[in-house]
Amino acid sequence: MEKIKEITKGKAKSLFTTKNDDHLVMHFSDDTSAFDGKKKEALLGKGSVNNQFNAFIMKHLEENGVETHMVEVINNNDSLVHKLEMFPIECVIRNRASGSICRRLGTEEGLILEQPLFEFFLKDDDLGDPLINDEHIISFGWATKEQIDEMKILTYRVNTILTELFINSGLILVDFKVEYGVSGTKILLADEFTPDGCRLWDSKTLMKMDKDRFRQGLGDVVESYHQVADRLGMNINT
Ligand code: C5P
Repeated sequence: MEKIKEITKGKAKSLFTTKNDDHLVMHFSDDTSAFDGKKKEALLGKGSVNNQFNAFIMKHLEENGVETHMVEVINNNDSLVHKLEMFPIECVIRNRASGSICRRLGTEEGLILEQPLFEFFLKDDDLGDPLINDEHIISFGWATKEQIDEMKILTYRVNTILTELFINSGLILVDFKVEYGVSGTKILLADEFTPDGCRLWDSKTLMKMDKDRFRQGLGDVVESYHQVADRLGMNINT
């Protein structure tokens, strides 16, 4: 499927129109950014591994009853997806404390939470993606109560499915971020699920194998993503 016009350019991905009004091409680049774009680098091969990683996870979720925007992988760096009306919010689930929750609440990193914790964030780089709650979303009209409830149910389901998938490969799913959009009246899982948007630790050593390697300057970022993919049995074309 031919890419016609770039309509959004994110920090690591771009979306292009196609001949089909209902479909877009999602392009994964090697660009990597952290701290709201303050740290940036191109990491050779990251776009390719993320595109294929994302396709594998989306397929696994589909097979387990979560509908997604994925249509098909086109090539190493591009996938065809359904065009959606996106909610301007991010849904995060945490199984252990890490990242922003430790800074916000002074929590010790790695603390196993009594139950998975769901949080909403507003997608707004200029504001640093602030934490918001259901009331903000309803008052500002970003989604309805019913849509909020559905996004929560779907995200908890994603957590259950992927926690099991990763633990069977010796990885702890510490936390992750997902985004949703609407197609007609249906809410579909959109955007991506890759090591750029989740935290994965080796279950024995607790070694970080996700984008925290980039954020914290630990090195071997793309190599770690490949290791995770290998453990899950993915065949990544390079
Ligand atoms: O930074 P924080 O701890 O709130 O991130 C929680 C999870 O959401 C992490 O897995 C992080 O990689 C992901 N995230 C993301 N995109 C953002 C913010 C967080 O993928 N804009």
